[in-house]
Amino acid sequence: MLKIALVAHDEKKAEMIEFTQTHKYLLSQCQLTATGTTGKLISQHTGLPVTALLSGPIGGDQQIGSLVATQQLDMIIFLRDPLTAQAHEPDIAALLRVCDVHNIPLATNRQSAEILIAYIKLCLERGENNANRTS
Ligand code: PGA
Repeated sequence: MLKIALVAHDEKKAEMIEFTQTHKYLLSQCQLTATGTTGKLISQHTGLPVTALLSGPIGGDQQIGSLVATQQLDMIIFLRDPLTAQAHEPDIAALLRVCDVHNIPLATNRQSAEILIAYIKLCLERGENNANRTS
């Protein structure tokens, strides 16, 4: 199963809910992990099973970074709020960095998330369960 992490800043949570509702069928075929509040909201509004980690500001972003570093995630959809200062900015920067270190696809806005969804669809159609193949 493709392993996907979902994170949304507060101003982007409504958009994340709508996004996961729209793509519920595809996402139901993936293993989902999320930061605490994002995960609970997705579960409540879609019924999808989501492993909810700690809330982002108290370490959830770092937990997701740890999954990236240990090759336990295939991609991340992180709807960031670029207009609001975040108390846990260092954790967010670390998460973006570790994705680059490990070459993990990371969408930080809705349109790039849609592109990852198109890629997920392709992987599922091909029967691939690892989106990071280079061949
Ligand atoms: P949350 O964390 O899903 O617990 O709100 C997201 C974040 O701010 O990184």
